[in-house]
Amino acid sequence: MLVLMRQGATQEDIQRVVSVIEDLGYQARPMPGKERTAIGLVGNEGRVDGTRFSALPGVLEIIQITKPYKQVSREWKRESTVIALGEGVEIGGRDIVVMAGPCSVETEDQLRTAARAVRNAGAVVLRAGAFKPRSSPYSFQGLGQPGLKLLAKARAETGLLIITEAIDPATLDDVAEVADIVQIGARNMQNYALLRRAGQCRRPVMVKRGPSATIEEWLLSAEYILAEGNPNVILCERGVRGFDSATRNLFDLSAIPLVHGLSHLPIVADPSHGTGRRDMVTPMARAAVAAGADGLLIEVHPSPDRALSDGAQSLFPKQFATLMDESRAIATTIGRSMSRYAGVPS
Ligand code: PEP
Ligand code: MN
Repeated sequence: MLVLMRQGATQEDIQRVVSVIEDLGYQARPMPGKERTAIGLVGNEGRVDGTRFSALPGVLEIIQITKPYKQVSREWKRESTVIALGEGVEIGGRDIVVMAGPCSVETEDQLRTAARAVRNAGAVVLRAGAFKPRSSPYSFQGLGQPGLKLLAKARAETGLLIITEAIDPATLDDVAEVADIVQIGARNMQNYALLRRAGQCRRPVMVKRGPSATIEEWLLSAEYILAEGNPNVILCERGVRGFDSATRNLFDLSAIPLVHGLSHLPIVADPSHGTGRRDMVTPMARAAVAAGADGLLIEVHPSPDRALSDGAQSLFPKQFATLMDESRAIATTIGRSMSRYAGVPS
């Protein structure tokens, strides 16, 4: 439930509503807006009787949240959430944020070469996994902690922001120390202990859609993070399991406008995992920008044929430069622009 205050409601009016919410045994989340303050009520399982609030001074309206996810919903917060990622880069506003790099951190040289290539083409965030959640226990599992060190070095050398994945609660804080955005992978979308831990860290978190997750399940996973007090959550569509093995996944482009309607959170598109095929990444990246994605997550490797993971879907640096040019053209057409920032060290 949301208690919407009148324009000009006093601090005393707001505090009175907060006290009533707390007396009823729930938590109050006041949200000052441009024109008026809304006070969210959390901790309830069923419907809360709004008549307790409607007669209080300064109260304009009681809004019942109809969705099972609450703080994530547009009913809860009408304006789109804009998240500051660092170095002046924001996601969720007019700018489209491109995150690119190899699937995994492999070597210092591989990461540095990839980072320079994606930066020169215009990416602002470097992606690469140090901890890899692989379907097979015999596949490359990532470099782990030494991989995080290489990411920190790449950040210092190139000025790129870093997104990297956390796969368990025990190492999430180490990841959050290096990462500007903590990635929760598709396989972990319903790892509730991990989501709670991500909700306690102070970094923005990107939650990928699970391979068989409904939109509602995905938004409920994001809700876990907000419920722990971290409002900086980004969603990422990376395709779901389909009946046809012609592509690695079924890249659900319709999720982009759908999620924009249901939630105020930014949404990123990952056509690399969404298709699994290098030749399809650029067309689907263009389509995702056209559909309203707030960011792109793209796998790029200096020599994809030698990649230790996901080589078949990784772009050559030159292909990535083309993807950037074409995406920029589409962004301009729909009144958006590609995120950039000044002062990148060489
Ligand atoms: C990745 O981004 O490399 C990754 C493992 O993606 P997903 O969780 O979507 O499979
Ligand atoms: Mn990958």
